Amino acid sequence: MREKGQSIDHLFSFLAAKREEDISHDYILSSMCTVPHPVASRAHTLFLETNLGDPGLFPGTASLESLLVERLGALFSHPSACGYATSGGTESNIQALRIAKKLLGASNPNVVLPQSAHFSFQKACDILGLEMRKVPLDGECRMDASKASDLVDRDTCALVGVAGTTEYGVVDPIRELSAIALDHGTFLHVDAAFGGMVLPFLEEAPPFDFSLPGVSSIAVDPHKMGMSTIPAGVLLLREKSALSSLAVDTPYLSVKQEYTLSGTRPGGPVAGALAVLEYLGREGMRDIVAGCMKNTQRLIDGMEAFGIPRVVTPDVNVATFARTRIPPPWKVSWTRTGHLRIVCMPHVHAGVVESFLKDIGENNA
Ligand SMILES: *Cc1c(COP(=O)(O)O)cnc(C)c1O
Repeated sequence: MREKGQSIDHLFSFLAAKREEDISHDYILSSMCTVPHPVASRAHTLFLETNLGDPGLFPGTASLESLLVERLGALFSHPSACGYATSGGTESNIQALRIAKKLLGASNPNVVLPQSAHFSFQKACDILGLEMRKVPLDGECRMDASKASDLVDRDTCALVGVAGTTEYGVVDPIRELSAIALDHGTFLHVDAAFGGMVLPFLEEAPPFDFSLPGVSSIAVDPHKMGMSTIPAGVLLLREKSALSSLAVDTPYLSVKQEYTLSGTRPGGPVAGALAVLEYLGREGMRDIVAGCMKNTQRLIDGMEAFGIPRVVTPDVNVATFARTRIPPPWKVSWTRTGHLRIVCMPHVHAGVVESFLKDIGENNA
């Protein structure tokens, strides 16, 4: 590093120039993150120096984390769910499988998950030494539940279903998975990292939460449709004992034990996540989600009017198309099987969708 520090002016013009190099959210159609809600940003700045890794020093911040867990538990039909704020879906998924592995205690454990599962499960299985058993999908990109039960055996520590897949925005048949899990006594983890903040606010949504008796844990990311600041994930568990299975002693902290993966953890995004829920309420969230779903439908209709068909009809605000070229400066993404993928996040408002469609129309050779 430098021997002598830089002036504030130099430093911040350097930082501002770097920030300018980032793509404007006006053109980002590929991300599951969005511009934080103003109340999330404001709440975040109030908690900049808080550390949830040492909650005895920050009891106020820690109580916000408990409140966030309680609010999300209630939203997912289990007000007494336990859990904690993670850095996002990846950590939540790793921790859920870690718990499942400990609870089963098999020597060669495996995980049964859909082919569409997020790549974080590959990391989790690598770290935890779990065999991955991938269940094929049906024609609508949902896990084929009838094939799942064939793969579950005595060494299966967890069955995983996705509520709102990252690539195609569909919900796996969680009700069927719940029945299979109860049948085999298997831990069922629902990855609702994206859909968890969408499905409860839809008029009609497939069931995915703790109202299904086989569901053991749920991952949800407030830093996606919860419009919080990054990083904000939450892992929720039906049983308190599940979380305690991860407890390790923490000799020099204000609390005796912790069960989180990270040590030092930011309070800012937790305050941000809770602030959005409190400020908007169910009513406000329903409005925002309805807007995103309307824009998704408009995008699908508009693309199909140009002869570019949808791949599936999504359950959440992710649209996929059989199309390979997109004019600049739009930032879209592509699924593993080569389909165009657009996430209609809150920053992708109606005007953005119309100007994207206009560009597609003008370049539709
Ligand atoms: C985004 C996502 C993840 C990963 O979450 P991160 O916050 O990026 O760690 C996991 N699962 C699903 C279904 C997701 O959409």
